[in-house]
Amino acid sequence: MTDKFIPYGRQWIDDDDIQAVIDVLKSDYLTTGPKIKEFEESFADYVGAKYAVAIANGTAALHAACFAAGIKEGDEVITSPMTFAATANSVLYMEGKPIFADIDPQTYNISPEEIKKKITEMTAAVIPVHYTGQPCDLDEIYRIARENNLTVIEDAAHALGATYKGEKIGNCRYSDMTIFSFHPVKHITTGEGGMITTNSEEYYNKLIQFRTHGITKDTDIFIKTADGPWYHEQQFLGYNYRMTDIQAAFGISQLKKSDGFLERRREIAGIYNRELADIDWLKLPFQKDDRESSWHLYVVQVDEEQLGKSRKEVFEYLRDKGLGVQVHYIPVYWHSYYQKLGYCKGICPVAEGFYKRTITLPLYPRMSDSDVEYVIEVLKGL
Ligand SMILES: *Cc1c(COP(=O)(O)O)cnc(C)c1O
Repeated sequence: MTDKFIPYGRQWIDDDDIQAVIDVLKSDYLTTGPKIKEFEESFADYVGAKYAVAIANGTAALHAACFAAGIKEGDEVITSPMTFAATANSVLYMEGKPIFADIDPQTYNISPEEIKKKITEMTAAVIPVHYTGQPCDLDEIYRIARENNLTVIEDAAHALGATYKGEKIGNCRYSDMTIFSFHPVKHITTGEGGMITTNSEEYYNKLIQFRTHGITKDTDIFIKTADGPWYHEQQFLGYNYRMTDIQAAFGISQLKKSDGFLERRREIAGIYNRELADIDWLKLPFQKDDRESSWHLYVVQVDEEQLGKSRKEVFEYLRDKGLGVQVHYIPVYWHSYYQKLGYCKGICPVAEGFYKRTITLPLYPRMSDSDVEYVIEVLKGL
């Protein structure tokens, strides 16, 4: 054992982030004040979307997007098994049915061909997940979706700052809505937090209302008859999914540093790509050349036969050496809850095979060069 501990991901907070939070604490608004609007506008501008809606967290963002898309009981929604459970759970919140389409063996992203095979008369939407930050085959997915009248919701929790054919993920050129998360391991953080971007005014209005109980005060658009200036109306069942102004101010400050964070992530990924390339039992992540990953995660695969050790042994060895390695992800439908719902193991063999070999190495902007060198040295010592 060693005292060293390098996690797989963590936040980077400076004095200016802290000051931004303090300023809000001294102001009149703690929640849904001017900082929310400012964060939404700067975020929409950053990714190139018309609208952005700040929300409590990435899971609430997925829930809200599924609501706005009109997912209802019996609807099937196709997504990747290689994601955090929240992606599929958001479909269940709406009483829809998540359908898992297998991943591409090169990129580990959902395969457009597999999506096609899963489409039925009940399919209402598809939620591609930009796994590790490498954008999915959006062009192909969007074409399939339009041919089949499906809504596309991008899960970009890993992909803030990633680009596809030269444009930022989140601009919704190939989708109806895109969601982001600001959990501390993601690219920027607000403690907990999330965002939905869209170019549709209709979705925007629904999302805003969903975030606050389904209540609106907007007499211009929504309310036909108002008793007086106090009047507001709950028009459907929403939630309290509001983000605070405290978080929004934190987010504005973090977003300004996003490009710098991204550059450092790419630099570290570049060092791994170069320095780990000659380890014969290690398979490194493959990148398509018309897109740029935001490198949320650096995932490698262990060739157990070549090394003569199991993935579990390698994982335990790395943990003993102080590396906070992780596994992303257990295929969603392997969880006992999904098994109880009736999902069978074996439905996505590529994802299952990938899961059995994968390990996530530490990667975050504040990692020092010597931390990166240490990770490489430990792997080479195996
Ligand atoms: C983190 C994450 C989420 C959920 O975001 P929270 O802010 O933690 O609720 C959803 N999807 C993916 C792929 C994620 O990594």
